[in-house]
Amino acid sequence: MIFIIGGGVIGLHVAIAVAEDMPGHPDIVVCDQAPFLGDHTSGRNSQVIHAGFAYPIGSLKARLCVEGNPLSYEWLLRLGVTHHRCGKWVVAFHDEELPALAKVLEIGEACGAAGLREVSAADVAAAEPACHRFAGAVFSGTSGMMDAAGYLRALERYLTAQENCHLLYPCAVTAIDPVRHVVETTRGAMEYSLLINCAGLWADDIYAMTGGTRRLRIKPFKGEYYIWKDGRVASMIYPVPRRYLPGREHDKRLVSSMGVHLHRDTGGQLFVGPTQIELDWDQKTDYAVTTPREAFVEQASHYAPVMHPASFEMAYAGNRPKIYEDGKPLGDFLVFREGDCHLHLLGIDSPGLTAAPAMARYVAQLARG
Ligand SMILES: Cc1cc2nc3c(=O)[nH]c(=O)nc-3n(C[C@H](O)[C@H](O)[C@H](O)COP(=O)(O)OP(=O)(O)OC[C@H]3O[C@@H](n4cnc5c(N)ncnc54)[C@H](O)[C@@H]3O)c2cc1C
Repeated sequence: MIFIIGGGVIGLHVAIAVAEDMPGHPDIVVCDQAPFLGDHTSGRNSQVIHAGFAYPIGSLKARLCVEGNPLSYEWLLRLGVTHHRCGKWVVAFHDEELPALAKVLEIGEACGAAGLREVSAADVAAAEPACHRFAGAVFSGTSGMMDAAGYLRALERYLTAQENCHLLYPCAVTAIDPVRHVVETTRGAMEYSLLINCAGLWADDIYAMTGGTRRLRIKPFKGEYYIWKDGRVASMIYPVPRRYLPGREHDKRLVSSMGVHLHRDTGGQLFVGPTQIELDWDQKTDYAVTTPREAFVEQASHYAPVMHPASFEMAYAGNRPKIYEDGKPLGDFLVFREGDCHLHLLGIDSPGLTAAPAMARYVAQLARG
């Protein structure tokens, strides 16, 4: 049996890819401790299909995001999940941010991100008349928005329709015997031939349970959102990635940090967020929104005038699982096979939602090997 821990977007896609890659494999079991799928990171994000211009050249994040972008659209279409290929404006607020904006094009092109083009401030003004005039902008035509909760439900239906795939939740893994290949769960013990760790914020605990000796730990970084009820911004507007600003290039905690942006979800609500707050190691389920409304109003006012601060309503928060080794942030996805029977995926923060179908192919290859 292939046993997959974690029924987030990564675990579900991995199960589908492994099932398709090894047809006739006796059993593929996915388990999740949560009472519903999407209780953690896959259900608590911006729902953006990214293009792949915000990650270091040569990183797994860049590669799997660029590959995952068109694959995500294919899956969303195939499963009938609501999504919009609305594109994304990346804007420089001041002239000093123009070099960072140039990096979006330069790094994006080097990484193979499709659909990027420099546009004028007048182009943004024509599409987003409620916004201020920006110093410069890039348009990412392949960026889009999906209904992430609908995606998880559709992946669940697709997976459970496969004869040899089984999804168990709530079902928590409590211990692993890496020698006898037995996993203890709240629904009993099961034997595995291959265990795939897609446990998100808890992938470090699962790694330790398998007897892993690397000093890997996951630190949660909280991202909070507010809804801007009377905001008139039509689509999706981002600042330049924080790591492209001078002096921040070497901060690996900022890889994937795009900064606070505005987006409309597929239901039409306008969101402001996410913040990036470094939590303590053990605060993995701290989802309280504590940043005051004024901070969101201030961030939103960089994009467009705010008429009624009272129209900002608290929304939700999600925690990014950032991976550290020997106390240092790695800044990339970490995927590796240890021994014959254990495959680990750690640090799957943004752009994990977009990268999921490409990550699944990558993992299926490792599983075959
Ligand atoms: C604020 C924020 C914004 C983001 N925005 C975007 C975005 O716009 N676009 C994008 O591409 N990506 C985005 N991401 C990243 C994306 O959400 C994640 O990369 C992706 O959801 C990770 O999926 P996952 O399946 O690895 O994790 P999860 O969804 O957390 O799934 C892991 C599962 O493992 C289960 N589990 C853990 N331990 C056990 C155990 N012992 N037994 C059983 N089950 C267990 C958990 O219950 C959980 O359901 C964002 C993330 C955050 C936090």
